[in-house]
Amino acid sequence: MPTNTVKTGRTARSPRTGSVPASKAWTARKATGLRILQSAALEKISWLVHGFSTRPGGVSDLGGEKVLNLGFAEWDTKENVLENRRRFQAALGADRLTLCGLSQIHSDVVHVFEALPTSRCRGDASATNRAGLLLAVETADCVPILLVDPKNRAVAAVHAGWRGTLQRIVTKAIGKMQMQFGTKPADLLAAVGPSIGGCCYEVGTEVASEFRSQFPNASEWFDELRTGDEPNPLQWLNMSPPGHQPPPKNVLLDLRKANRAQLVETGVPSGNIAVSDWCTACRRDLLFSYRKEAGTTGRLMSVIGIQDCMHTTRANHAQVTPE
Ligand SMILES: [Zn+2]
Repeated sequence: MPTNTVKTGRTARSPRTGSVPASKAWTARKATGLRILQSAALEKISWLVHGFSTRPGGVSDLGGEKVLNLGFAEWDTKENVLENRRRFQAALGADRLTLCGLSQIHSDVVHVFEALPTSRCRGDASATNRAGLLLAVETADCVPILLVDPKNRAVAAVHAGWRGTLQRIVTKAIGKMQMQFGTKPADLLAAVGPSIGGCCYEVGTEVASEFRSQFPNASEWFDELRTGDEPNPLQWLNMSPPGHQPPPKNVLLDLRKANRAQLVETGVPSGNIAVSDWCTACRRDLLFSYRKEAGTTGRLMSVIGIQDCMHTTRANHAQVTPE
């Protein structure tokens, strides 16, 4: 299959510049004017279709820039968004699947769909084992996670911001797959798409305290804001008695690390998890960042679905242009 072009992937520490290290875990495909990020491991599954959208291409006009906005927004028209979605699905070879999104509310609500619901459901994760549905989550900083159970032929899409992460939404989505489809976490493959990185995601220390009260290893997911070259002893995170320094007001949260840890704790093998280190805030040339763009920006979409076995021709069909 002619997948080629920009490679990205996870590294232990992503630099603040947001440069893209080479890795075999991800492929960035150029198709019909769009760039789509895919997990190499998920791409190998013949009956599966999946992808993470990026910013370039599309018909939406964001301050004079043509972008692939896939979420309804005040600054964009419904027609543009629907056309962008059509192009995204076509580029994935998922034209025949029915897009199935959610009204996302930063919750831990997981839906299991057997067919397209008659009205949009409120929640932040969905799962299915039915062919023909293209599960979708929209993000612009939050963490999108796609899950596939190759043995039982089941998939899930998860939206995890800090609230959803704190409520363990990815663990709950896996729990639902266990109950509904007999999924074993050890069989799952997970792709954690582009999101705001630990380099840029500033939160109040009260958020850090909430995480610390829920997760014994939470301190590994936080870093202090660096204002200079002075050492940062992280005293406040280790619950030391008050020292000489006042506690910081804000800290940096690495949501990817937190979700990766939840996947591993749930039983997903570490080697089955691919985490994109593209930061939405650092890479505004490629992605959308709600925070860095003061709310007026587009939405990325992450999708996963099971192809009808009659139609497993797959995306590669469409024009794929090596860069
Ligand atoms: Zn960043």
